[in-house]
Amino acid sequence: MPATGSHSRTLCTPPTPRTVLISGAGIAGPALAHWLHRYGFAVTVVERAPELRTGGYKVDIRGAAIEVAERMGILQDIHRASTDMRTGAYVNGDGTRIATLPAEILGARTGRDDEIMRGELARIHSERTRGDVEYVFGDSVTSISPTPTASSATTAGPTTTSSPTASSKLDSVEVTFERSSPRRFDIVVGADGVHSTVRRLAFGPEERFVRHLGGYISAFSLPNDLDLDREELYHALPGKLVCVYHSAGAPAAKGLMTFRAPRLTYDHRDAMQQLSLLGAAFMGHDTGTPPTGCWSEIPRMLEAAREAPDFYFDGLNLIEMDRWSSGRVVLLGDAAHCPSPASGQGTGMALVGAYVLAGELAAAGGDTARAFGRYEEEMRGYVTVNHRLTEKFAKEMTAGSWPAIRFRHLMMRILPYMPWKNLVAKKIAEGVQRAANAIALKVYPVPTAPPTVAPAPPLAAAPSITATRSTT
Ligand SMILES: Cc1cc2nc3c(=O)[nH]c(=O)nc-3n(C[C@H](O)[C@H](O)[C@H](O)COP(=O)(O)OP(=O)(O)OC[C@H]3O[C@@H](n4cnc5c(N)ncnc54)[C@H](O)[C@@H]3O)c2cc1C
Repeated sequence: MPATGSHSRTLCTPPTPRTVLISGAGIAGPALAHWLHRYGFAVTVVERAPELRTGGYKVDIRGAAIEVAERMGILQDIHRASTDMRTGAYVNGDGTRIATLPAEILGARTGRDDEIMRGELARIHSERTRGDVEYVFGDSVTSISPTPTASSATTAGPTTTSSPTASSKLDSVEVTFERSSPRRFDIVVGADGVHSTVRRLAFGPEERFVRHLGGYISAFSLPNDLDLDREELYHALPGKLVCVYHSAGAPAAKGLMTFRAPRLTYDHRDAMQQLSLLGAAFMGHDTGTPPTGCWSEIPRMLEAAREAPDFYFDGLNLIEMDRWSSGRVVLLGDAAHCPSPASGQGTGMALVGAYVLAGELAAAGGDTARAFGRYEEEMRGYVTVNHRLTEKFAKEMTAGSWPAIRFRHLMMRILPYMPWKNLVAKKIAEGVQRAANAIALKVYPVPTAPPTVAPAPPLAAAPSITATRSTT
């Protein structure tokens, strides 16, 4: 129910705090920016990449996330950009289809659930918020320091690692950037993904919060040489799974390669290192030839990965944290609770988290500690259920041996002819649906016309700013 401008202090006047810096223009960041703008906050989004990152695989929007998309007014955009997949088939080494299943069963989707390319969703968010929110591309936060009020100056330390109670009295935070001038914000949100810089600065090194689930995943564009039309082809090898698919209206196909491995040491920003890990996983280390029985598409996929402008590679990692806020700094999306790409829930969780965080900030009328506490209370159970689901999926994603692969193929081949196939499909979808709906969304009233608040100004001029900052 939309509130009118005269209902309450928290709604009709800009709530204090008012200026918010969001680090990361992925999925969570722009979704939060959308809501905060509607509540009357002045939002700046800083993104390390020089432009919007539109890479990635297709992602599911299910359950509570569909509800949030509807409240955001983007559900129709999502349906319009749907991948509209028809079928998925497992193929053997010579590309023969062994078993074909409808896309809904493979994706465990029901009702209004949909599937969209991650990049399309990022584009929808960016287009929706571009006119209302300040975007700074090609930059990153380098330090976050609380600016104490007189009453809290003695309790807060020089960094944001002080206790939430002490630091919640702080007035604002001073932020320095790699390129832009320092600025002061009331709140800083880390929506900068699984390798979050804000999390490192405010909570400590990534290693403290990462749990590796034993695998790696890569996604990239490749030419649609197989002439696929809204179809995906899977090929399984022991400990590995590859997939090539084409989604509705896409100019190219997409490749996905996943493999089991213990934690590997590499630089998450060095694509060349990641490409060589991928190559080593799929082609023999010594021989450089693909393993026996492997799909002839695999060498072509590895070649395409090297050329792809949107190459993505990451571990199947969970981010687990006891709390998501410290003083005026709060984490959102993958930065707070990455469920790993194995879950198919990361994007939905990012949308839901953005909705809840913005709603609680607006409802708390300036009491940031209360807002962050409630955000966490609302989200914690939902996140936990989804993390448990991920652990299960990560184990099942790849079969360990040829007999296990053959058994899986057999089950898929006979499933369409089984009298109880609908029951099996329902059972497969049940766990996913339970996790996707494991939160009862509150209704946070939204003012019809948000007040205009100016973004936080720079604290000092920086000579490099005009050359490096692009504000859309
Ligand atoms: C290019 C890309 C491809 C992806 N592909 C897949 C996929 O195929 N399958 C899947 O399940 N998940 C994928 N993901 C992750 C998926 O998008 C997230 O799980 C989910 O959508 C949650 O979104 P998020 O906004 O929290 O994180 P993300 O979508 O990861 O967004 C984080 C954003 O923060 C930016 N960023 C990082 N560091 C900084 C910094 N220091 N300063 C400013 N900005 C920073 C990143 O460039 C990115 O734009 C991908 C993410 C990216 C960035």
